[in-house]
Amino acid sequence: MQAPSVGGVQVPRGNGQVIRLSRGASLADFADKIGANPASLVQVMFHLGEMVTATQSVNDETLQLLGAELNYNIQVVSPEEEDRELLESFDIEFGEDEGGDEALVSRPPVVTVMGHVDHGKTKLLDAIRHTNLVAREAGGITQHIGAYQVTTEVDGDDRKITFIDTPGHEAFTAMRARGAETTDLVVLVVAADDGVKPQTTEALNHAQAAGVPIVVAVNKVDKEGADPQRVRAQLTEYGLVAEEFGGQTQFVDVSATKGIGIDGLLEAVILTADAELDLRANPDQDAQGIAIEAHLDKGRGPVGTVLVQRGTLHVGDSIVCGDAFGRVRAMLDENGDPVDEAPPSRPVQVLGLSSVPGAGDNFLVVSDDRMARQIAERREARERTAQFAQRRRRVTLEDLESALKAGEREDLLLIIKGDVSGSVEALEDALLKIDVGEEVGLRVIGRGVGAITQDDVNLAIASDAVIIGFNVRPAGRAGELAQREGVDIRYYSVIYQAIDEVEAALKGMLKPEFEEVQLGTAEVREVFRVPRIGNVAGSLVRSGTINRNSKARLIRDGVVISDNLTVESLRRFKDDVTEVREGYECGIGIGYNDVKVEDVIETFEMREKPRA
Ligand code: GDP
Repeated sequence: MQAPSVGGVQVPRGNGQVIRLSRGASLADFADKIGANPASLVQVMFHLGEMVTATQSVNDETLQLLGAELNYNIQVVSPEEEDRELLESFDIEFGEDEGGDEALVSRPPVVTVMGHVDHGKTKLLDAIRHTNLVAREAGGITQHIGAYQVTTEVDGDDRKITFIDTPGHEAFTAMRARGAETTDLVVLVVAADDGVKPQTTEALNHAQAAGVPIVVAVNKVDKEGADPQRVRAQLTEYGLVAEEFGGQTQFVDVSATKGIGIDGLLEAVILTADAELDLRANPDQDAQGIAIEAHLDKGRGPVGTVLVQRGTLHVGDSIVCGDAFGRVRAMLDENGDPVDEAPPSRPVQVLGLSSVPGAGDNFLVVSDDRMARQIAERREARERTAQFAQRRRRVTLEDLESALKAGEREDLLLIIKGDVSGSVEALEDALLKIDVGEEVGLRVIGRGVGAITQDDVNLAIASDAVIIGFNVRPAGRAGELAQREGVDIRYYSVIYQAIDEVEAALKGMLKPEFEEVQLGTAEVREVFRVPRIGNVAGSLVRSGTINRNSKARLIRDGVVISDNLTVESLRRFKDDVTEVREGYECGIGIGYNDVKVEDVIETFEMREKPRA
């Protein structure tokens, strides 16, 4: 049904029917669903007061607004939801344990080790693994498969702990950004001779943002100059208060190289997990979990390490992992020993996949190979389509106010990167001093010296934060990632400018920057006096197009005579027209009487300026 809609634009209107759109869809996607011309939707949005291009990814609200205007019932579907629906169409539910509470059995905690560079993360992971190997006198060649499991005795019981053995928060955040929550608990390593350092607080930010409990390993206590108490004192500032100081956090003094305190650390992990988490899963269902590492092995083909989160994985199971599929040909543990089954929290290397899955992809066991292949193929097809569409728009300083109003945000989250630590600190201090009243807060969730990294962008994605770059630029592919994911990065070289903009955003005053784009020019050849309209300029269009209703200015001998005019009337011969192109003559009325032959009428529009 064609009917005039807003501002005279021809758009097919709906009668309330449901239109499903992927999160982050563009007006072009919308147009495709209703059989409209994308440009007409751009125009409708313009009349509704928003300037967006046809292919730009827009937020949920914009899609809803447009839907309401055109009388469609818009349902925005997130990628996670789409995958859930895909699986539902095969009668599979991902992410929930089957059965009720009685089906759940306690499972080991999954731990990631984080901390500042050189504080001993790798050595500590080695030490933990080594202690345990000696304890069970195992043979086998230790292999790095991305995670391993150890056993420790607590209160007379043998308890297992799974360690992700890629230390650092990069992998942690990258996974979290994809919605894959694998880590239950974080061990924060701080060297006792060095104390809290930038990456210590960075790691802390990541763990706290994810709401994951932290156990602190105060490492290198064997070293001269080690001051474990100072580490405890320093961390109280970040809300980690040691038990001996009346807080909740377990601090354990260790030496990774001397093997001191490792058992105590493992015990602290178990005690913290028992106190703060309810880690249970149903071991008696089809296995599901997350791929944590994968590579292509020359001899064995695609090899992926998966972490089982619920159910039990068996050799011979048909599985899908991201868009890879296959039948589990063999499973190996971290010692290279074959395993027949892997219960919850068990990491295993899986052989038999059709291709290499991505870290963070989910995996699940399905009833047969055919279903595995179908799901994988559908995921692959969807992935391809999604790559065309841009991802969802994140919080930007401009839309902060509406996000606050909509209750989507209470705080503006910032990540500050700068060229030297002095400037980062100064900027953070100054920003935190901005006071705009009770309702709006500002939190700095990450800070550091150096270029903006992929890791920073991932943190911004995971937390919907804005990145402030002070005299720094994105490194490697960080810029590309930010653009693809719609992360707002602001660059400043003057502290006051940064403060002003952030303050303006918090007060809801920051307006998008517009730049002028010239549309066309016309030379005045003759001036007519028209009753009731005033002077009309008989003109020849010299460049571009002259459009009715566009903004205009009058130029005489290179000097602007009057700005801020509008093309009020536009005629070719006796007919009203909306547009006249280069090389054609027309009559232009700009509501300004002092028009002379040889004047130039320039038309322009204001477009939102993409921020650098
Ligand atoms: P990462 O960057 O955090 O993974 O740190 P590494 O595990 O690579 O350790 C960095 C350096 O600190 C290495 O030279 C280690 O030998 C040393 N180191 C690690 N743990 C200890 C420790 O407990 N005591 C002493 N004295 N040195 C340690």
